[in-house]
Amino acid sequence: MTDLFSKFDPLIEQRRALLAGGVEDPFNLVMERVISPTVAVCNGRETILLGTYNYMGMTFDPDVIAAGKQALDDFGSGTTGSRVLNGTYAGHKACEEALKEFYGMDHAMVFSTGYQANLGIISTIAGKGDYIILDIDSHASIWDGCKMGDAEVVPFKHNDIEAMEKRLKRVPEGAGKLVVLEGVYSMLGDIAPLKDMIRVAKEYGAMVLVDEAHSMGFIGPNGRGVAEDQGCLEDVDFVIGTFSKSVGTVGGFCVSNHPKFEIMRLVCRPYVFTASLPPSVVHTAATSIRKLMHAGNKRAHLWENSKTLHKGLRDKGFQLGTSEAQSAIISVIMPDLERGAAMWEALLHEGLYVNLARPPATPAGMTLLRCSLCAEHSAEQVGKIIGMFERAGKAVGII
Ligand code: PMP
Repeated sequence: MTDLFSKFDPLIEQRRALLAGGVEDPFNLVMERVISPTVAVCNGRETILLGTYNYMGMTFDPDVIAAGKQALDDFGSGTTGSRVLNGTYAGHKACEEALKEFYGMDHAMVFSTGYQANLGIISTIAGKGDYIILDIDSHASIWDGCKMGDAEVVPFKHNDIEAMEKRLKRVPEGAGKLVVLEGVYSMLGDIAPLKDMIRVAKEYGAMVLVDEAHSMGFIGPNGRGVAEDQGCLEDVDFVIGTFSKSVGTVGGFCVSNHPKFEIMRLVCRPYVFTASLPPSVVHTAATSIRKLMHAGNKRAHLWENSKTLHKGLRDKGFQLGTSEAQSAIISVIMPDLERGAAMWEALLHEGLYVNLARPPATPAGMTLLRCSLCAEHSAEQVGKIIGMFERAGKAVGII
């Protein structure tokens, strides 16, 4: 018998070697208690959270929590069904109405996760004979959506407009084309030059899908994302997003102005063949999305936090993923996995949680300490975080 697990041996060995040094497992941390969007108890100790994607701090918003509690009382704990059978409740419709209003678009479809939204929309709209032209640093859910469908998949170099155009030029005459981009790329926290990329995509007759998972609620005058910020949202055919970041719960969605969009509800398998989100989740999401429409002050404070952390870390000598703060993600580049893990642990001992990211999730084989800021981080917390990085960085020998 061939052991089907033998293919994992290199990873098992890498993990063993890392943990043998006595370092805490960075992928197995337990949040024992969560005190606020920015503080939790880990290993019995109060820890500042700087790796949660909880950009707008909506997880403890009193109105959001009240909506979830009320929905539990009114609708029960779960729907026990697909959206196309017994699983569409008033709350799912409320979410879709809130999303249409939030983006000013005609159609909105709520999925059980953002992962499934990408999986479903991409695999369904791009079929046999069609071409998907996508940024090589795209999120796993985008790649998996490509893999699940029957289209030809053509990646291009990250954020490289000329490379994208070259690929578009080679698509056979008459074939359907879908260009897939992200507003913010979550590993380095850099943004895409969407306006120019979308202009080129449209010149070649492509439809455009933009994943705004990391910009929704924060970037753009109304928090609609990078496309709104760059003035090209009306040229985007499909916006994909998630409730697991700024919205503060779980779920995914696609919004579109395509006149035939509603047919997706019948043909998109990751929408049809899975249970819908629980009532408490959709009611919290709808409430949160509506509040995010009027969150200008929070957006401004989050920009302040992001800029302060970026400057603070750069001034201390850390190598960062971007030359200036482009989003609420500040990525700190580590020399290798061993020192990355040691730095991660040193920060945890300081009382700070960040994400350790390593290949294959990261571009160019990099090990990163990914920081995601929250609108609820106080200026004092951000100052404290910079001090923690400085002490840990010196202890581990990174600065
Ligand atoms: N797209 C991007 C760019 C993401 O970063 C993520 C999650 N990290 C997703 C989609 C999936 O979202 P969800 O957590 O809702 O599955």
